[in-house]
Amino acid sequence: MSRNAESTAFRSALEVIRAVEPRVADAIGAELTDQRESLKLIASENYASPATLLAMGNWFSDKYAEGTVGRRFYAGCQNVDTVEALAAEHARELFGAAHAYVQPHSGIDANLVAFWAVLADRVESPALKKAQVRQVNDLTEADWFALRRELGNQRMLGMSLDAGGHLTHGFRPNISGKMFDQRSYGTDPATGLIDYDRVAEAAREFKPLILVGGYSAYPRKVNFRILREIADSVGATFMVDMAHFAGLVAGKVFTGDFDPVPHAHIVTTTTHKSLRGPRGGMVLCQPELADQVDRGCPMVLGGPLPHVMAAKAVALAEARRPDFADYAQRIVDNSQALAEGLLRRGAKLVTGGTDNHLVLIDVSGYGLTGRQAEQALLDSGIVTNRNSVPQDPNGAWYTSGIRIGTPALTTRGLGTAEMDQTAELMHTVLTATTAGANADGTPSKAKYALDPALADKIARQATDLLTPFPLYPAIDLA
Ligand SMILES: *Cc1c(COP(=O)(O)O)cnc(C)c1O
Repeated sequence: MSRNAESTAFRSALEVIRAVEPRVADAIGAELTDQRESLKLIASENYASPATLLAMGNWFSDKYAEGTVGRRFYAGCQNVDTVEALAAEHARELFGAAHAYVQPHSGIDANLVAFWAVLADRVESPALKKAQVRQVNDLTEADWFALRRELGNQRMLGMSLDAGGHLTHGFRPNISGKMFDQRSYGTDPATGLIDYDRVAEAAREFKPLILVGGYSAYPRKVNFRILREIADSVGATFMVDMAHFAGLVAGKVFTGDFDPVPHAHIVTTTTHKSLRGPRGGMVLCQPELADQVDRGCPMVLGGPLPHVMAAKAVALAEARRPDFADYAQRIVDNSQALAEGLLRRGAKLVTGGTDNHLVLIDVSGYGLTGRQAEQALLDSGIVTNRNSVPQDPNGAWYTSGIRIGTPALTTRGLGTAEMDQTAELMHTVLTATTAGANADGTPSKAKYALDPALADKIARQATDLLTPFPLYPAIDLA
C-alpha cells in the first residue's frame, strides 16, 4: 500500500463531508491539528491506526445485528458475522481467552454485561431452578419478588476510587453501587501498594459475590494469582477490569501472575486505551460464563455497532503482530523514564514510581491542588488530567494528583530521552505555579498564578519536542 493512500482516503472523506456540512469537516481537520500539536499525556488516550479509523467510516454502520454470530434477530447479517467472528477470534488468540464478546460499546458497558452475567449465572439460574422453571417468563409474581430480593443486595469488593479503582467498581454515583452492596480495598498508606493480606481480610469479613481487580490510576502491577486465591477462599467470582492496561497484557509485558486472563473468571476491557483500537469495550471469560455474556445485547446493551466491531478486528490483528509487543515494552520504558525524570527533579510520586503505563504525581509537593496543576500544565501545552491520590484531602473534584501516561506519546515514537525532557517541562511549570487565594483571603483550590510568558515558552518547547515525531505522518489534509 502506498503511504499516499492514507492521505487520499482522509482527504476524499473530508471533501464528501464538506459538501454537506462544512463545519463538521472543518472540526475534524481542526481536531487533527490540535492532536498533532499537543503533548498528550492522558493515560487513557491513544492514537488508533489509519486502518482502524477507516474501518469505522462505512455502511456497516447501517446494519442492525442484535444477537450473536449466526444467531441474529435480523436478516442479512452475514458480513457482520464475518467481522464479529474475526474480532472475537483475534481477541481469543491475542489474550489466550476461552471466549470473547466484542459487542460492548465502551468499557462501562462491558462491565455491566459482566455484572449481569455473573448475577445471572450465580443467582438467577439457581433461583429459577428452585422455582422449577427454565425461563424468566415462566416466573409467577411471587417468584419475581423473591428473585429480585436475591438479585439485590449482592456484594462487590473492589479497589477504592481514591486508591485508583474505577467508578463502575461499586461506587454510589454509578449504577454498580446501586446494584451491589459495595466495600472497597485500598492501598497501604506507607507504600501506596495493594496490601493483599488486607484484601483477604476484607473478603473474609464481607463475603462478596464478586471480587474486582483492576484500576484506572494505580501505577503498579497487580498480582492476579493472589487475588484469584482470595476470591476462591470465599467462593467469589473473580473479575478483572483491564481497561487501562490491556495493551500491556496484549504486548506480553504483563505475564504470569500479572496477566489477568488465566486467573480471572471474567475480564473486561476498553479497546481504545493502551490497546490502541477503536473506542469500545470487550468481555473475555471462562467457558461457563459464555452463554450469559453473549446475552449482553439486548439484555444490557443497545444494538451492536458493526462498524466498530470491524475496527476492533483490525486493531486486534495489529496487536497480534510482533511490533505491538515492542510498542508495549516501550510504553513502560517511557513511563519509567518519565517517573525517574520527575523524581530526580524532586517530584513526589504515589508509590514512588511505576511499573506500568502511568505515573501519579502528588502535586501537594508543589503546594498545588490537582486542579491548579492541571490548568497550569494545560496553559503550557501539556495535556494531563487531575486525579485523586490515596486518602486525598482535596476530594475527587479538586484532588491532589496529576495522572500521566505514555501510551499516546509512545505511539508517536517519543522515547526515553524525550520523556526526560517532558519531566523537565512539567517540573518547571509546577515549580513556577503558585496557589491563589479567594476574595476573603482563604486559600483557593482552583485559582493559581503562572507567568504567561513562561507558559508560552514551555508550550513552544513542548511543540518542539513533538516536531521530530509527526502524528499520522502520511496524512496531509492541506
Ligand atoms: C476507562 C475505564 C472504564 C470505562 O471505559 P469507557 O469506555 O469510558 O466506558 C472502565 N473501567 C476502567 C478501569 C477504566 O479505566
